[in-house]
Amino acid sequence: IERIAVITSGGDAPGMNAALRAVVLAAEHDGIDVVGFRHGYEGLLNNDYMKLGRHEVEHILQYSGTIIKSARSERFKSDEGGIEAARNLDAQHVDAFIVIGGDGSFRGANHLAKFWQGPIIGIPGTIDNDLYGTDHTIGYDTAVETAMDALDKIRDTAEAMDRVFIVEVMGRNAGYIAISSAMASGAERMILPELQKDKPLTIDALVKHVEGVNRVRGDSSYVMVLCENQWPGGAVRLAEQLEDRLNFPCRPCLLGHVQRGGRPTAMDRILATRLGVYAVQLVQEGITGVMAGIERNELVTTPLEDTWVKRKVLSQELIDIQTKWFNPIKKDRHKA
Ligand code: ADP
Repeated sequence: IERIAVITSGGDAPGMNAALRAVVLAAEHDGIDVVGFRHGYEGLLNNDYMKLGRHEVEHILQYSGTIIKSARSERFKSDEGGIEAARNLDAQHVDAFIVIGGDGSFRGANHLAKFWQGPIIGIPGTIDNDLYGTDHTIGYDTAVETAMDALDKIRDTAEAMDRVFIVEVMGRNAGYIAISSAMASGAERMILPELQKDKPLTIDALVKHVEGVNRVRGDSSYVMVLCENQWPGGAVRLAEQLEDRLNFPCRPCLLGHVQRGGRPTAMDRILATRLGVYAVQLVQEGITGVMAGIERNELVTTPLEDTWVKRKVLSQELIDIQTKWFNPIKKDRHKA
């Protein structure tokens, strides 16, 4: 292997820069050149690339975002797109390809593999933590930290006014950010895809819960963490519906893209660094079509397709703590 191409693709995540830096420094250590194609697969089609050396990546690991930009590319999804991308990689004498992104980006990697022969490795970069084959994805820890910080601040004002707040967090179709930030901030309730896939929540059930908490605790704040895409109309609509029923102020708060930014946590920087170095080792061993991940603190590989076909299961232990043990209106199980 003499030259590796790298892209960051799809939704950006804190720590992508740290992963990029690790790839470049590890490659340089092994005498391999790195080129970064800008704006994900779109840059691969446009031949928009830059050489990446120590100088470019030396001091970027503390910043979110990605110095080679990220993007989505519809054009790339066609056979013509795949062929064009392969041609451009060959034209730049690239002999291995590393993509930092989520499951969409990994589908893209499999698409590329139909037209291009070199080793292809995925590095999991997404705040949603929704990829099978790794306990954590790069960016997840930082996003949880950001959500927790916001929830703490919401609690201050909620507590002062005895208000109900609905805080909407990201996660796409997975409740990792929601459950972790809810637990870390002591939220009274959370709404997650994993909890309502069999039995969708009703407004009646939520009203009953808020009223129940009020009865048990008297004057008090109530903070609900809502995972995006889990309530029609989101937090804004849910707050209106609750306010109509409860006759006291219910306020929505949408965290939105703040969750994608900020200084990556140490955990994300370290994860990104380890996976970046590992990816460079893997391509040199000729391994292809896998994601580099971490399970029980060990480096592991998983076939790219498994990362989206198989489903990572949200820990039942965490769910139980939040919904049973710490549910403010349920009796302590020991006494039950
Ligand atoms: P993420 O990696 O965050 O899940 P997306 O789902 O937006 O992000 O995917 C990023 C890019 O990967 C897409 O814009 C597209 O270029 C490529 N991609 C996604 N799915 C496919 C697919 N089925 N075939 C080919 N390319 C794909």
